[in-house]
Amino acid sequence: PQEAPAGGGVFSRLFGKRGQATEMRRALDDDMLEQLEELLITADMGVETALRVTANMAEGRMGRRLSTREIKELLATEIARIMEPVAKPLPLYPSKPQVVLVVGVNGSGKTTTIGKLASQFRAAGKSVVIAAGDTFRAAAVEQLQVWGERAGVPVLTAPEGSDPASLAFDALGKAQSDGADLLMIDTAGRLQNRADLMAELEKIVRVIRKKDPDAPHNTLLVLDATTGQNALNQVETFQKLADVSGLVMTKLDGTAKGGVLVALADRFGLPIHAIGVGEQIDDLAPFDPEEFAAALTG
Ligand code: GDP
Repeated sequence: PQEAPAGGGVFSRLFGKRGQATEMRRALDDDMLEQLEELLITADMGVETALRVTANMAEGRMGRRLSTREIKELLATEIARIMEPVAKPLPLYPSKPQVVLVVGVNGSGKTTTIGKLASQFRAAGKSVVIAAGDTFRAAAVEQLQVWGERAGVPVLTAPEGSDPASLAFDALGKAQSDGADLLMIDTAGRLQNRADLMAELEKIVRVIRKKDPDAPHNTLLVLDATTGQNALNQVETFQKLADVSGLVMTKLDGTAKGGVLVALADRFGLPIHAIGVGEQIDDLAPFDPEEFAAALTG
């Protein structure tokens, strides 16, 4: 379950410790709105989204005297309203194997998320194959093999420096002949050379489409919540590099304030398929808008 970020949610900072003076009434005026905006911005929500949220909550209520509890509930309701349309688990298709391309910068949690997802699908009775497509990072391949063992899922690898597209092609062939339900393809996350990375991702897609014209069925972008507002730039960048179909936000268990998820939903409207809440195999949770809004405002 999601918990309030370290240091408390927005409200404990505005009104003191949780539970204190929750029935105390204050006028919903410009000063109050400004304080709320500031706190939402501090929680990584970004200026634009913070302004929209406070404007929506204040609509028709300016000047009213509201209790802390009421203000908190209004704010949480506004946030949940933005988040509800994007809270969608990874869709499962009847086509076999479903091909999931996983993209994101190095360190965002791609390997870990693939391991966690593989474990969840295995638990749901699905057979899974993983392709270690970041063939330039030996450590990434090894790490993925460790996760594959934990999840009880085969991990296909290729020699260091070899063509990721040809590995992806072979992996899809194996997944097809094994009758696997799902193929997850890890990819490189070197943003230093975007042209290279784009060419690499395009080639993977082009090559796997020779075996299945509908592949990849999903392109998951993995984002690290601790990068804050930078996650917005990463979405923009990866949308240019690949046909991103959904997001996984990792490291929401740490000091990340999580408000960036609201900004992402507000700006891009991409589905949030899951959130990472720790380093262990079971630490991947479905995204729950109400729980999230309550934790953020708590
Ligand atoms: P990759 O380079 O994108 O494949 O990233 P990794 O999967 O190797 O993850 C980078 C680091 O982030 C590792 O130390 C992971 O244990 C850690 N990590 C990944 N997801 C989470 C998460 O949800 N919570 C926490 N606390 N750590 C995570």
